[in-house]
Amino acid sequence: GEFFSIEGINRTIRVYCRVKPILNAQIRNVIDFVGEDGSLVVFDPSEPKNNGRKAFQFNRVYSPSATQDELFKDAQPLIRSAMDGHSVCILAYGQAGSGKTHTMYGSSEASAKETGIVLFALNDLFEMANKRKDMISYEVYLQMVEICNEQLQDLLDEDSASRGELSLSDVSLHSVRSAVDAVNLVKQSRTKCSSIAMNSSHSHSVVIVHVHGKDTSGNNLHGRLHLVDLAGTGEVWSRNSENPGNGLVNQLTDKSLSCLEDVLTSLSQKNSHIPYRNCKLTYLLQDALGAHAKILMFAHVSPEGGHFAETVSTLKFAQRVS
Ligand code: ADP
Ligand code: MG
Repeated sequence: GEFFSIEGINRTIRVYCRVKPILNAQIRNVIDFVGEDGSLVVFDPSEPKNNGRKAFQFNRVYSPSATQDELFKDAQPLIRSAMDGHSVCILAYGQAGSGKTHTMYGSSEASAKETGIVLFALNDLFEMANKRKDMISYEVYLQMVEICNEQLQDLLDEDSASRGELSLSDVSLHSVRSAVDAVNLVKQSRTKCSSIAMNSSHSHSVVIVHVHGKDTSGNNLHGRLHLVDLAGTGEVWSRNSENPGNGLVNQLTDKSLSCLEDVLTSLSQKNSHIPYRNCKLTYLLQDALGAHAKILMFAHVSPEGGHFAETVSTLKFAQRVS
């Protein structure tokens, strides 16, 4: 719809910026201003007062008190787009600890109200499918993968780890008949992936929901909803790690993450060549990040003074691609 299109081609990336609450009141807050118009001002805590202020502009900014419900309401039109046959991609971007997983999955001990975008989306999708059932009959399929160090793991296939190198066409597809089915599958794989060493700030987790619909006159539609919890950006691991020489340094620039940044930058610049083929993640998301896809990035920042440099770098990138 009009929400995304520019001259008939959907190449606009929506960027919504979420500021995490400060969980420890002793910590210096670098956020100066959060505007309802999407403006955000931060200041460098190491500079004398009023120096080092930087202003940014996004499609939307959430203050630290924003609820999961508020975020979901803003993402909801995209769930409907997937049901109308579009390819949709919702990405959570930001440094480790900035709240990406909280946005996508809620916190593990969360009440039902505190779940994240992924479970909200699955519930909404089936609710909508039920409302439309006299006009369109839907079939829904799920895929869930994790990419870590350019290795792909199928989170819904018990045996995938033992099969060695996995390619994208091997990823299993699971039919789901209800919201309960879908939510159980996601929850099950979340427990599984938190029990394997791969799951960390270094991995990208991707849920792909395929929505096949057939209307009463026999027309088919195939919508895809891609929900991506990205690996953390930046050098926080080397600086904050208790053991700086422990090898994490080698993983600081995750290949898939920098490839994704290149793809989003190329899309925002409306380049004719988009470098999808340079890593596993963008190859997997080629359709999700295609010229006609609807892309929404939640850029996450932590307001803590010690993370100022990384916060600015997240904000700069996010503003550049919006
Ligand atoms: P990331 O996935 O970016 O590494 P997390 O989502 O794991 O970060 O968040 C780090 C910690 O901060 C978690 O304990 C999480 O529950 C908490 N947290 C993040 N965002 C919020 C929020 N909006 N409200 C309350 N707690 C949050
Ligand atoms: Mg996380």
